[in-house]
Amino acid sequence: TTMLTKTEPMNALRILPGIPIPSAASHRRILVTGGAGFLGSHLCERLLNEGHEVTCLDDFSTGQERNIRKLRDSSRFHVVSHDVATPFVADVDEIYNLACPASPPHYQADPVRTMRTSVLGALNILDLARSRGIKVFQASTSEIYGDPDIHPQPEAYWGNVNPIGPRSCYDEGKRCAETLFFDYARNHDVRIKVVRIFNTYGPRMHPEDGRVVSNFIVQALKGEDITVYGDGAQTRSFCYVDDLIEGFVRLMNAPNDVTGPINIGNPGEFTMLELAEIVIDLVNSPSRIVHLPLPVDDPRQRRPDIEVAKRELGWTPRIKLMDGLRLTISYFDELLRAPSATGAY
Ligand code: NAD
Ligand code: UDP
Repeated sequence: TTMLTKTEPMNALRILPGIPIPSAASHRRILVTGGAGFLGSHLCERLLNEGHEVTCLDDFSTGQERNIRKLRDSSRFHVVSHDVATPFVADVDEIYNLACPASPPHYQADPVRTMRTSVLGALNILDLARSRGIKVFQASTSEIYGDPDIHPQPEAYWGNVNPIGPRSCYDEGKRCAETLFFDYARNHDVRIKVVRIFNTYGPRMHPEDGRVVSNFIVQALKGEDITVYGDGAQTRSFCYVDDLIEGFVRLMNAPNDVTGPINIGNPGEFTMLELAEIVIDLVNSPSRIVHLPLPVDDPRQRRPDIEVAKRELGWTPRIKLMDGLRLTISYFDELLRAPSATGAY
């Protein structure tokens, strides 16, 4: 077990010098695993803006230093390099567990590692929450519904998941993590919050992580062919990152009996061909659409039923796809023009 404290530096432990914070009832010390990733960095930023003290735990496998560079200016922000699958303790009041590769090429690159991250990561996080008596949030996924037979997907749907396919390390790993969360809640009284995230996009996605929105935007900006997999008739529903983070925070701060699992996503549903055409149009790109083979077990359709989020959290997404895409295109445009100014890419 590794001890993560401010006074006991460990191998590769990086904690910035902090100043004592006046204790206010609303101020909390919050651990965000996967905090250097796309979603994690937005969450850290939001929590810092709310005045909390935030520790980002990340192994920087798919996360990027540039995502959290600005946050490092705050004395309330701490960074720890650590693998969530290896036990640790931390002196915090709340945990958001986001550590896990999320893009299919990333999570399939080392599937056993992905499973270890999901399952052992969840166990370590739950043991920490149990020992400290604190609330813990799990970033689950719409992937737990697999290739869904029910459309749109409500939380009560148990899913249609292949247990032995190339996506299984992620889908089944996340399903197992949900099981662990609910067992710890039932058997050990841990206060849990489980969110099922539907496809989310926005600034700070990795330009090469292989997800569809980043792929199409980068291809359109470079004037390269837009790679639609299969016939492009498969659908996804895309949520802008700021809307998603608002849902996270609402769930974490909701009463204890609001545990989830709760879908957070934007029900606006598009085919991949439609998405390609929208991106080409917004970028005003000369790119042409080409078709590549459809990956194995690629879900045919996906759209969240968000009635529970509306009812329990008063949450609905606000940002329309066109507006969110414009913001994301500006981010990638800047990144591609001045890679050295923005980071290592
Ligand atoms: P991301 O790859 O940008 O972020 C994941 C972060 O976790 C990275 O910073 C990575 O370095 C870190 N990480 C991975 N394995 C780790 C380990 N073993 N120990 C410590 N850190 C580790 O992906 P993201 O889109 O920000 O996804 C964040 C979370 O949200 C993931 O759990 C993912 O499954 C979930 N999720 C995301 C989406 C989406 O559309 N973005 C959809 C469903 C679920
Ligand atoms: N996709 C595509 N071209 C790409 C990347 C992805 O057509 O360059 C498709 C992919 O086959 C899937 C959809 O877009 O049907 C969403 O893929 P992504 O990897 O973003 O997320 P997920 O499949 O996990 O929902």
